[in-house]
Amino acid sequence: MQNKTIYQLAGSGIQQLVPYQPGKPVIELQRELGLEKIIKLASNENPLGPGPKTVAAIQSALPELARYPDGSGFELKRALSAKHTLETEQITLGNGSNEILELLARTFLIPESEVIFSQHSFAVYPLVTQAVGAKGKSVPALNYGHDLDAMLVAVTANTRMVFIANPNNPTGTYIQHNEVEAFIKALPEQVLCVLDEAYYEFIDANEQFDSVTWLDSFPNLIITRTFSKAYGLAGLRMGYGLSSTLIADLLNRVRQPFNNNTLALVAAEAALADHEYLQKSQQLNCQGMKQLTDAFTSLGLSWIPSSGNFVSVDVKREGLPIYEALLSKGVIVRPIANYEMPNHLRISIGLREENQFFIDALTAVIND
Ligand SMILES: *Cc1c(COP(=O)(O)O)cnc(C)c1O
Repeated sequence: MQNKTIYQLAGSGIQQLVPYQPGKPVIELQRELGLEKIIKLASNENPLGPGPKTVAAIQSALPELARYPDGSGFELKRALSAKHTLETEQITLGNGSNEILELLARTFLIPESEVIFSQHSFAVYPLVTQAVGAKGKSVPALNYGHDLDAMLVAVTANTRMVFIANPNNPTGTYIQHNEVEAFIKALPEQVLCVLDEAYYEFIDANEQFDSVTWLDSFPNLIITRTFSKAYGLAGLRMGYGLSSTLIADLLNRVRQPFNNNTLALVAAEAALADHEYLQKSQQLNCQGMKQLTDAFTSLGLSWIPSSGNFVSVDVKREGLPIYEALLSKGVIVRPIANYEMPNHLRISIGLREENQFFIDALTAVIND
């Protein structure tokens, strides 16, 4: 039984909160079905595993674990500031970029604040908004992507933050840089623009644009990046925000003093230097994307063109039973009915043989 008095001690936003639903872990399915072979294409993780140089860096840091980490993240920030050509004081390190999103909400939002995000966009935006009691506004999507014009129209005197995921998760849609720039320019200065670039490294080279150069022009801009996807370190939790020094200073007041652990700090620094691994990840992703989308075409299924390391496919019927049928064959993908896309499944790009295993399972399930 709920203890009603204690329940009501929680903020009203928290009472209404529905927790984030992660992809099903491999060991959980193994436990449930006792299957030998299970592949997980459900959480946009890097199928290569961490790079060997990164693993070596982690190993060499193990003897340090009795000590607290470097709470300033000095070495990693130095490497990131060189990479992005900005001051170390403009960088905020987070326990995943998820923590940066949460820090932004805790630092800048109060219950009167309104926050704008797109329909079919990342579930964490409404979550962090609601957790601090602020008011989220979901703006209807345009062709599964952000409708920037409509998002501008949604801005009121109470709006304090706008989240843009580019590329977006779970749709993979990408907004060209000139459109994003015009959008930020049109925002009132008291509205912070959070540009979430978790999948930046997977954007086609012809379309990639270095949004970090905008920081000089837009004091209300925060860019977030992560080591969880292309850099293959989802399990260690390391992401970062790039902003003005003022925003970084405010976030630094709120964050835990040791929010990034020792292994994550050294691993991220090593991963950042391993250009070969990144290139390999990008290449594998390109090939896997083609492999999957070609198969969808053969099966007569349509998909949303994606700039990320995943693709959402329209299975032309309710996705949940298909998801469950795939589970029984040892394939974990992601149903996205909770993103108002009941007929789509989101598939993360895996290794060539994993993609094929999924394609074979999907073909069998669809033709069943
Ligand atoms: C995966 C993802 C993140 C980042 O996750 P972290 O592991 O916390 O860095 C952020 N935004 C989007 C849109 C994502 O899909």
